[in-house]
Amino acid sequence: MLQHLQTAARVAEMADALDSKSSNRKIVWVQVPPLAPLPKTFPVNPGLSTDNPGFFIRHAISLEICMSVQEYQIRRDRLAAALSQDGKFRVVLVKNTTLAQTAQQKHQLPQIAMQYLARAMTAGSLLASLLKGEERIGVIVSANGPIQRIIAEAMQVGEVRGYVRMQADGNIQECQNSLGQGTFRIEKICYGQLHPTVGMVDLKQGDLIQDFEDYLNHSEQIPSAVQMVTQWDSSGSLKLSGGLMLQAMPGTKLEEIQQLAQSLKAYPLEELLQTCTNDQILQQILPSGLTLTNNTLLDFHCRCSLQRFKQFLATLSLEEIQDMQQQNHREMVCQYCSQEYILTDQDFAEIQQHIQNPK
Ligand SMILES: [Zn+2]
Repeated sequence: MLQHLQTAARVAEMADALDSKSSNRKIVWVQVPPLAPLPKTFPVNPGLSTDNPGFFIRHAISLEICMSVQEYQIRRDRLAAALSQDGKFRVVLVKNTTLAQTAQQKHQLPQIAMQYLARAMTAGSLLASLLKGEERIGVIVSANGPIQRIIAEAMQVGEVRGYVRMQADGNIQECQNSLGQGTFRIEKICYGQLHPTVGMVDLKQGDLIQDFEDYLNHSEQIPSAVQMVTQWDSSGSLKLSGGLMLQAMPGTKLEEIQQLAQSLKAYPLEELLQTCTNDQILQQILPSGLTLTNNTLLDFHCRCSLQRFKQFLATLSLEEIQDMQQQNHREMVCQYCSQEYILTDQDFAEIQQHIQNPK
């Protein structure tokens, strides 16, 4: 039975992964091998008949699978968006614990820096839900404190990446409550547009939650409310990350969204993210009915590759590349995901050849 459960969990993960990375929905069928006879020691519920042991075991397995799929759906990073039945509000909910944990692991960030990055990635995903396909949102925070730059990028298809730049000798503790002075900037990179659409506000609260809300209300001029949560264990590792964006649709009175936003402030989002699926949370926020408009799996994913680095290096001059090789500067590190690439002599030869004979 354990083997069947493990197979089912793997298939569920695989099917979700296929769904996430492809616009084509795929159905995966699993053929379960014939069931073994009921062992004498099998713990039998007295309320169930053992006349048909095969049925009993199947029933037990399906119950177990249902429970594990439910748990899987609660844990899995996901974005869900909904429109209220009356068309007055849009709610977007992000659960991104695993991808934020991946970012912390890849960049080895201290807790405060990671908190800012998790919030920036949450903001990116919340906004990316309103785009299409591989269109993407860039969240760029520039500040003059020990943390100088926070970059997060989120695609509508669910890929998210990001990093933090800190002063080499800065005291990270100083930015416990504030990044200092700076700006919160959003770039939207959309199909058919030569340049990104850019909006920006000054950092006021410096917590990135209020700043994001400020951006939505003043730069995009959409009445909005934002909540974000992060939870940590005693060693400073991230345990939970997520966020919620509530927006008024055109024609909705300001008082109506203010009232709903006020009631959401007392909402136990932290607890719900650990015990409910995104759909269940949205149903609680919009009890009078909703239409689900987006349901996307989220992953930390960077599209960098050695080939892309080489293409970039081929835009430099031949002298610069020869200098790099002579000084043995072979290591390239992707700032978004900390992946290292080492250039071989063959790579240098190909880059030089490309510079001399561009196709
Ligand atoms: Zn990368």
